[in-house]
Amino acid sequence: MDFQSEEPDDMSHTLLVQWTIVPKIAPRALIACNRCRTTRAFVPSGKTRLNANGRRLDAWLIYRCSDCDNTWNRPIFERRHVGDIDPADLCALQNNDEIFIEKVAFDIDGLRRHAGQVEEFSDVHLRKAILQPAAGSPTRLEILFDLAMKSSLRTERLLSAELGLSRSRIATLADAGRVAAIPPGRNALQRALKDEMRVVIDLADEADRNAILSRAGP
Ligand SMILES: [Zn+2]
Repeated sequence: MDFQSEEPDDMSHTLLVQWTIVPKIAPRALIACNRCRTTRAFVPSGKTRLNANGRRLDAWLIYRCSDCDNTWNRPIFERRHVGDIDPADLCALQNNDEIFIEKVAFDIDGLRRHAGQVEEFSDVHLRKAILQPAAGSPTRLEILFDLAMKSSLRTERLLSAELGLSRSRIATLADAGRVAAIPPGRNALQRALKDEMRVVIDLADEADRNAILSRAGP
């Protein structure tokens, strides 16, 4: 099977779907609470603070201790010149824009830079859409992943749960060269999902392929 091939004949046997993945719960910061005098989970409050010092601005996302309501300010940026701030970000901060705040709250790498230790959750919302139906009877499934926010979810685990394939069956298909991740990588299926990643599965020899294909769509 040639995964690079985008021949029309190949595509006519391919069902192309998109899986959009959105985590349900924002990661929490595990930091020392000076009121509780121990490490606590701090939860994003959904509120930001913007502070101007001349032409330089600070912005924080406010977190609250899950136990005592103490606050912790997570820097979004600090001492940044107003000219170096994306005007859309500044506008979002001035208006407490929910989508912007949510994006910051779910940015786990950004949180790790300031909190050191974080608590993350694997619960996600998954939305499936058909991008291109197969012209004939499909024997090949191509899934395009769209991650609104970074997830720790493993590709193989999601495929197994959503397509009704055991993980050993996925491993057997992968060993036979019938499952591939694009871009390819060492143990790509065992790793966390990446935005814009694709998984192609050749189902030509699978007797239950219609059931598998129907689970791939909405
Ligand atoms: Zn506390």
